[in-house]
Amino acid sequence: MEFKKAFGLHMRGVKLLHKHCPKLFPLMALQKLIQAVTPYITLYFTAQLLDEIAGARREAVLLKLAILLVSVSGILAGLSMLFTRLEGREEHWFSFEYSSILPKKMLTMDFVDVESIKKRDQLVQIEQNANWGGWGWNYVVQLFPVLVENVVGILGAAVLLIPLFTSRVKKGSFLILNNPLCVVVILGSMVLLSIFSGKLEGLGESVYAKNAIKGRMGNRIFGHFGLMGCDTTRADTGDMRLYPMEKMGEYYQRAYMMESWGAHGFFAKLGKGRVGVCNFFAAGIATLFTGIIYVFTCLKALGGAFGIGGITQYVGAATQLSGNIKALFVMMEDMKNNGEFLAEIFDFLDTPNNMYQGSLTTEKRADRKYNVEFKDVSFKYPGTDTWALRHVNVKFEIGKRMAVVGENGSGKTTFIKLLCRLYDPQEGQILLNGIDIKKYNYREYMDLFSVVFQDFQLLSQPLGDNVACCKEYDAERVEQVLHDAGYEVPLDQMLYREFGEEGVDVSGGEAQKIAIARALYQDSPFLILDEPTAALDPIAEAEIYSQLDDIVKDRTAVYISHRLSSCRFCDEIMVFDHGEIVERGEHETLLEKEGKYQALWNAQAQYYV
Ligand code: ADP
Repeated sequence: MEFKKAFGLHMRGVKLLHKHCPKLFPLMALQKLIQAVTPYITLYFTAQLLDEIAGARREAVLLKLAILLVSVSGILAGLSMLFTRLEGREEHWFSFEYSSILPKKMLTMDFVDVESIKKRDQLVQIEQNANWGGWGWNYVVQLFPVLVENVVGILGAAVLLIPLFTSRVKKGSFLILNNPLCVVVILGSMVLLSIFSGKLEGLGESVYAKNAIKGRMGNRIFGHFGLMGCDTTRADTGDMRLYPMEKMGEYYQRAYMMESWGAHGFFAKLGKGRVGVCNFFAAGIATLFTGIIYVFTCLKALGGAFGIGGITQYVGAATQLSGNIKALFVMMEDMKNNGEFLAEIFDFLDTPNNMYQGSLTTEKRADRKYNVEFKDVSFKYPGTDTWALRHVNVKFEIGKRMAVVGENGSGKTTFIKLLCRLYDPQEGQILLNGIDIKKYNYREYMDLFSVVFQDFQLLSQPLGDNVACCKEYDAERVEQVLHDAGYEVPLDQMLYREFGEEGVDVSGGEAQKIAIARALYQDSPFLILDEPTAALDPIAEAEIYSQLDDIVKDRTAVYISHRLSSCRFCDEIMVFDHGEIVERGEHETLLEKEGKYQALWNAQAQYYV
C-alpha cells in the first residue's frame, strides 16, 4: 500500500478513536514531547558543564549549570511521569472503548450482512490480525506517539547539531572540514544512512505482515482447538472426557500450527532468512553512521572548532538524530503494512445499510389492533437460486393464536424473519395496517414483536436483569411475567457461574421459561415463539400450554413448532411445505383432510400409540 493512502487511513483511525477517548491523543502527544526533548536538555547542559570544567573552571558558573541541569531534568522527569500516568489511565479505559466499535457495527448492520459468510470471515480476520501481530487499531494508537516523538526528536537534534557544522576548524590539516562541500557530504551521508537503515529494518518487519495470510490457518486452528479444554461450553459437557477429542485437537495443531509457527516452520525460516539479513544490515549501517560521526566530530575538535563539551553534545545529538530518522522510516513502513489491516477494518465499518428504512411512526395503540398481512410474498436468500418462500398470502388476525408447522427446511423460520423485517422479500409486500412495512421507522416496527428464538441468549446476570434487559426495572411486573411463564425464583438470583459460585446453572427448560418471561416483559402486540417448548419436559410443556391463554392475553401470537400436539390449541394452523403454505385451518379440520398435516400428525402419533 502507498504511504499516502496508509497515512490517510491512520489519520481516519486517530479521528475515530479520538471521538471515543478525546483526552488520549493530546496526553500521548504531551508525554512524547517531553520524552523526546529531555535527552537534548541533558546533553546541552552536560556539554556546557564539561566545557567549563575543561576551560575556565569558574565555580559560580559550574554551580549555576549544575543546578539548572538538575532542576530542569527533575521538572521534565516529573512531568513525564505525570503525563505517563494520566495517559496510562486513559489508555486503560480506551481499550474498553475501542473494543466496542466492531460489536456495535455488527448489531446495527443489515441482518443480511450479519449472516453473510464474507462479513463473518472479515470479523474473524480482523480479530486474528489484532491477536497475532497487534495489527489494526493497536498500531493506530502506537504509531501516533512514535510519530510525535520522532519528529520532535529530529527537530531537537537538528538544533543541537547546527554548531557542529557552523563552527570552523582554526588550524592544521583539518581545515578541509570547513569546506561547504565536506559539510554537505557528511550531512547527506548521515541522513541517507539513517534512512537506509530505517528502511531496511522496516522491510524486515514488513515480511511478517505481508505473509500474515500464511499464519491465518495456524492461528484459526489454535483459536479453535488450542483452548478447547478451557472452553466451559465444551469442557463442561462431559463429551470431551468421554470421547478423546483432544487427540483431534492435537492432530490439527501439529499439522497446521507447526507448519506456520513451529521452530522449523514458515515464520521461523523467515526470521532466520530475509528478516535476519535485513536486520543485520540495518544494524551494520547504524554502526557505520556512528563511526563517521565520531571521526568527523573528533577531527573538528582536534582542529580547535569546539571543546570536549562539544564532542559530547554533537555525538549525542547525532546519535539521537540517526535513531529518530531510522525510527521514523521504520514507522512509515509499519504504517504501510498496517494500512492493509486497517483497510479491512474500515471496509467492515463502512458496510452500508442498504435496507430501505422509512420514517413513518407506528401508531401507538393501547388496544393492540395492529394488522399485518403478507401479500403474495416470495423470498430467496442472497446468493441462492431456490425460493425459500413462494407466493405466501397470510393475514394475521388480531389477538388470535396462529401456528406455523412443517418439516425441516419448509420455510417456517424464514417466514418469521421476514415478518420481523430481518430480510425484505424480493416479490410481494408485507403490510402493517395497510402500509408497506418498509415505510415505517425500522426500530419502531421491530418493537411490535417480542420473539423467543430457538437460540435465545441469557446473560450471567441476576434473573431480574435478564428478564427486563436493564438494571432498573419494574420488579412487580418482572415477577408477574416470571409467574406467567412458570418460573418463580427470587429476582436477585444470579444465573450461571461466570462471575461467582453463587450463580445457578439453569436447565434448558428453565432458561426457555426465562426467555419467554423476557418476551412477555417487552409487552409487544405480537408474541412469536420459535419451538417454545422444545427444551421443556412433557409436564412443563403441558403446564405452559394449559396457561397459554393467560400468558398471551390479548397479544397476537405465532408459534413455530415441530410437535403438532402443541398446536392443537391454536385458532389457525399454517402448514408449510417447500416454502409454500399448502394447508391452513383448525386442528380438527386439518386432521380430517388427507394432506400434509394429516401425514405429519400420523408420522408423529405412531410413536405414542
Ligand atoms: P425451517 O424453519 O422450516 O426449518 P428455514 O426457514 O430455516 O426452514 O429454511 C427454509 C429454506 O431456506 C431451507 O431450504 C434452508 O436451507 C434455506 N435457508 C435458511 N437459512 C438460510 C440462509 N441463511 N442462507 C441460505 N439459505 C437458507
